[in-house]
Amino acid sequence: MAKKVLVLGEVRDGALRNVSYEAIAAAKKIADGGEIVGALIGDGISQLANSLIAYGADRVVTVEHPHLKSYTSDGFSQALLAVLDQENPQAIVFGHTSLGKDLSPKIASRLQSGLISDVTEIEGSGDSALFIRPIYSGKAFEKVKIKDGVVFVTIRPNNIAPLEKDESRSGDVSSITVDIQNLRTIIKEVVRKASTGVDLSEAKVVVAGGRGVKSEEGFEPLRELANLLGGAVGASRGACDAEYCDYSLQIGQTGKVVTPDLYIAAGISGAIQHLAGMSNSKVIVAINKDPEANIFKVADYGIVGDLFEVIPMLIQEFKALKV
Ligand code: FAD
Repeated sequence: MAKKVLVLGEVRDGALRNVSYEAIAAAKKIADGGEIVGALIGDGISQLANSLIAYGADRVVTVEHPHLKSYTSDGFSQALLAVLDQENPQAIVFGHTSLGKDLSPKIASRLQSGLISDVTEIEGSGDSALFIRPIYSGKAFEKVKIKDGVVFVTIRPNNIAPLEKDESRSGDVSSITVDIQNLRTIIKEVVRKASTGVDLSEAKVVVAGGRGVKSEEGFEPLRELANLLGGAVGASRGACDAEYCDYSLQIGQTGKVVTPDLYIAAGISGAIQHLAGMSNSKVIVAINKDPEANIFKVADYGIVGDLFEVIPMLIQEFKALKV
């Protein structure tokens, strides 16, 4: 049976995050021919509605308010509940991002609905859709289905391909006025600690360094390689603990989960907690001096060697390829 599915578009630095377009592709499978409604919450975000439509949303509902400029659990809950009240969708898709992970369980429990989080694939469509998600830190996958009620889903970035962009698509854009009040937190200022450029959790290429990088300066060649490949720099907890880089770069069980097309691990031993954050990457290249390092067990390509020799060689080769 066709379903009406709502997709929450996620805005960062004035632009929609890629995962919003991937969420529309996921929603299409769930909807099985039904309507896809995009929702945009923020302040000064309505101009992004056409982008959601170009990627497959049939129409978009916006909620704008000065208190929604930055994400707060209270503010976004009030706004999203107003959208759900108006739209009554049968399913809602979020990105499995900090925002999605915070907001989706809160709203799902409010509506006494089930939530399937961190979905990497959807098998089938409509009522027979099965949601595939990693368990046990990525060592196994389970297939889940919600029997009845509104279906809440968060999808892991970089796993479900967005639909082809079609600028000729058109759809209605409407707004809802919500009186955002009783906020327990107000964001006065957002101070970015690290990383300009490519967002680590959505990057197609990640060059990650571990304790083997040895210093803050040791990350420089990794940064150069990442820039050259249009990617982002990541790190193991070993490197973060040693203060070679900021914790915002940490990948793993207690850090970010990434699924890039290419993951280059340099000077990382491959502890189970690190693998939990990157083992589903499409191609893994490991560079390590120790041929017995655990990281080689998950690597598609392994280079036994000193990263300070290997990375400059890779930079040189990629530069030559680009000329
Ligand atoms: P090490 O294990 O010290 O490995 C360094 C590697 O660099 C070695 O294999 C060495 O051979 C190699 N090397 C050294 N010099 C060079 C060189 N010049 N060239 C090439 N290779 C070189 N870790 C995470 O990463 N993410 C997490 O989210 C995370 N969460 C955790 C949660 C818990 C509850 C616990 C207990 C631990 C967690 N850890 C996590 C820590 C994890 O167990 C490891 O301690 C950590 O991943 C090790 O980091 P590392 O591989 O950089 O360091």
